[in-house]
Amino acid sequence: MTKSITRHRLTINGIVQGVGFRPFIYALARNIGLTGEVYNASDGVKVELEGSLQNLEEFHERLRLEAPPLSTITSVESSEIPTRTDTEFRIIASHDNTSVSTLISPDVALCQDCKNELFDPTNRRFRYPFINCTNCGPRYTIIENIPYDRPFTSMKHFPLCETCKSEYDDPADRRFHAQPNACVQCGPKVWLTDQQGGPIEDGHPIEKTISLLSQGNILAIKGLGGFHLAVDAKNEAAVQKLRQAKGRDEKPFALMVRDIKIARNLATLKPDEVVALTSIQSPIVLSKSKMNTSLAPNIAPGNDRLGIMLPYTPLHHLLLSGELDVLVMTSANYSEEPICIDNDEAIERLSSMVDYFLFHNRDIYLRSDDSVVWEMGECIRPIRRSRGYAPRPIFLKQKGPSILAVGGELKNIVALSKDEKVFLSQHIGDLENLEAYEFFRMTIEHLKRIFEIEPDLVVHDLHPEYLSTKWAKDQATPILGVQHHHAHLASCMAENNLEEPVIGIIMDGTGFGSDGTIWGGEFLIGDAFKFERKAYFEPMPLPGGSAAIKAPWRTGLSYLYHAFGNDFPELPSLQGRQIKPILQMIDQQINSPLTSSCGRLFDAVAVLSGGRKEIRYEAQAAIEFMQTIRNELGTDFTLFKSNLVDTYRIIRIKPIIENLVSRILDSNSIQHLSSWFHLSLIKSFSATADQLRQETGINKVALSGGVFQNQLLFEGLLAELLRDNFQVYSHTQVPTNDGGIALGQVVIGQNYLRK
Ligand code: ZN
Ligand code: ZN
Ligand code: FE
Repeated sequence: MTKSITRHRLTINGIVQGVGFRPFIYALARNIGLTGEVYNASDGVKVELEGSLQNLEEFHERLRLEAPPLSTITSVESSEIPTRTDTEFRIIASHDNTSVSTLISPDVALCQDCKNELFDPTNRRFRYPFINCTNCGPRYTIIENIPYDRPFTSMKHFPLCETCKSEYDDPADRRFHAQPNACVQCGPKVWLTDQQGGPIEDGHPIEKTISLLSQGNILAIKGLGGFHLAVDAKNEAAVQKLRQAKGRDEKPFALMVRDIKIARNLATLKPDEVVALTSIQSPIVLSKSKMNTSLAPNIAPGNDRLGIMLPYTPLHHLLLSGELDVLVMTSANYSEEPICIDNDEAIERLSSMVDYFLFHNRDIYLRSDDSVVWEMGECIRPIRRSRGYAPRPIFLKQKGPSILAVGGELKNIVALSKDEKVFLSQHIGDLENLEAYEFFRMTIEHLKRIFEIEPDLVVHDLHPEYLSTKWAKDQATPILGVQHHHAHLASCMAENNLEEPVIGIIMDGTGFGSDGTIWGGEFLIGDAFKFERKAYFEPMPLPGGSAAIKAPWRTGLSYLYHAFGNDFPELPSLQGRQIKPILQMIDQQINSPLTSSCGRLFDAVAVLSGGRKEIRYEAQAAIEFMQTIRNELGTDFTLFKSNLVDTYRIIRIKPIIENLVSRILDSNSIQHLSSWFHLSLIKSFSATADQLRQETGINKVALSGGVFQNQLLFEGLLAELLRDNFQVYSHTQVPTNDGGIALGQVVIGQNYLRK
């Protein structure tokens, strides 16, 4: 019997470059006993394989099962070609112009192999803070241009020494073509300086850094996607000093802890939170903090969640391997400005805030903040999708034209699409200052360059004052304005592969409405083409506009005034406030835009119930109001229904506030008021969804908008809708907040061009 030998050519697409893919193919083919070659081409990685059909089949199967951890295979095309009777399997070097025009890996946390070497005294990279391999290390943040090759990364300043070069050239080595490969002889270095940038000569900068932190100093530490500000998390005075320096009164600080064991001492970790913490993305996980830990009490005052991450670079591992096992690690910036990345820039911007700097000389081309996730409704969900995730694409159901979506204003993320892939940028932040705006512009240029995409259409928010809208209007490319909450709806639909119209419950802070008022408490029926506003909260004046968002007592007063007119009851929560001028603003309609926002309703109810009158960070009043509820929501609720037979379909504010006030006057506790309000919203939302289902026959509900970061509301509503036999969809890939709207803008833009 003759064994038939065939030769196949495979074209593999996906994240297959800079992730150890060719050495993997090489090892696999040799292991199975196939001959042939692997090389990069412009349309993917090409593999030619020659051998028996049985062996070829085994290759295909193991290709799927054993692919390197950082790779994502999106397609494998296979065709038969004439045999060539090679004697071995080879890797063919790539030529300059034959790079894979495909996907770029995100930055990846240190792998276990490298970690073992880092702490192995016999290894030549023992305690070398830039150890990495093809399975880990920097990627997106060090890329200046494509192809992803060392001369086009910030590693170009570090010619490989002979030993590193031989690893880099050896297909059997874990560091084969690892672009950031380096060692103490040839690679980047760290050094310590005082606050003016004057070098501190010390043979052991990392050990010295640890001891400076132990003494209560603030250090700016250069990392992977930018600088962090670090202090000892157990030192209350140091944490307070950092709060003053950073202009951050109460917003919780993120922590970096030595390992999962230490993390468990600080927070109650669920299994999927442990998976997230130890993942290659290594995000900050907001988990339930334990009581009576050794942490300084001012880490997360008044908040029952603790932001924890594990060390993700070798430098972090070294910093936490000494006497300190928990550090505050917060983005190095003042307030909401972009994170600092450049050494000179750091001295300029940070020297007044810090005591010392720990610098290194591997440049960061693209800043990238730490990502933030949490568990809600039994799923890990992103709050901020950035380092570790960007620029890994979201895959759509079908191919479409190339769209640039510029997002909104707060928590801005931009998106660029090609075919069925949507590349979301890292977190850019609030587009409220020049630095953020520059970062926004630079990120768009960078994404266009490294993915080689020229968009056919630029999609922006309808809000005329957003800097992202203004930027879009200055472009030569055709533009499309998309309503904010339609984008939220389409975003949720896109990541869940939904195309047919759904009921959208979009509960949000602020978004410019199609009618020129501010929306944010919306029931929409729609898809990625169009939408209809079916029901919403009655619009209320917001005295002072954004000033009322920072001082929710104004919003509370406005809602109270609406419900009771001039005879509104004197509530203890509004005592001592300058009420008259606010009422005048409302009466004379001076700077009092109308809003249907659910976020503002939360503010109003929280304040009137005795909650916070002024806030120090976004949604603080609503968050604290929710956290007054320790256990269950109870059974007390009122149905606030929109009247869908009525042409207006408005959920009236007056009955809500009247109900609330009677409970306040009955001296109900704030806990009770909070659970009554949460449960009432849940029941009202599901009742409205049910009315819409009866009217339209649609059984699918999409939940989106920033208010769904309220865990009790989200989980309660999810359970209620499932009990009512709805199919419910929510966000697990992009944030439910405005960090997710660029994805929705992309699919709406694609559909617009298809029409
Ligand atoms: Zn590694
Ligand atoms: Zn070297
Ligand atoms: Fe929004």
